[in-house]
Amino acid sequence: MTHDEKPQPAAAPEPRAGTTPLASTGPAEHEPQPAATPEPGQADDKDWTWVLDRPCGECGADVGGLSVAEVATANRDIASAFAAALRTRSDVRDRPEPDVWSPLEYGAHVLDVFRLFLTRLELMLTEDDPLFANWNPNETAESDRYDLMDPAMVADDLESAADELATRFESLTPQQLDRTGRRSDGAAFSVLSFARYEIHDPIHHLWDIGG
Ligand SMILES: [Zn+2]
Repeated sequence: MTHDEKPQPAAAPEPRAGTTPLASTGPAEHEPQPAATPEPGQADDKDWTWVLDRPCGECGADVGGLSVAEVATANRDIASAFAAALRTRSDVRDRPEPDVWSPLEYGAHVLDVFRLFLTRLELMLTEDDPLFANWNPNETAESDRYDLMDPAMVADDLESAADELATRFESLTPQQLDRTGRRSDGAAFSVLSFARYEIHDPIHHLWDIGG
């Protein structure tokens, strides 16, 4: 568990040299983000669902026509590439800009994405049209201290979490692809569109770190 890296609660966060201190309290759900807080790709309160309709103009991912089998394979491939970057890059803890996450921070975020989407997938499979609890990635990045995690541990966890999610996608029956779920901002998904939406996040963040 990467959460083993969490510092003692009493320890005050100390920004590394060259970074801007993060806000001490997380932003409210729909408030503008402070300029110094890195912006991960797909916070729940931002609408990235357009990636289901057209290719992403930044990372180039075109996920709208993928099958769940293709999504599963892509999850393993992207996690493998991400893990390799985390294991080998000398700048793994360096933020390219004060308000841009380091490769380690992006990796820890993608790990949480794999885990969150598996949790949400199970909800969609076991409940009728569930409403997902809101997730604020910036708050999680701060509270879990992504910046202090062990890159090698995050790399290992990334690959296992991606494999677990991929295996679950591969296990789905055609009927299960039509089950539905809703996000707190009102976005509605089928299991199939949820899978397509999910894979854009790790692809986009691999692009973010230049991988
Ligand atoms: Zn993208």
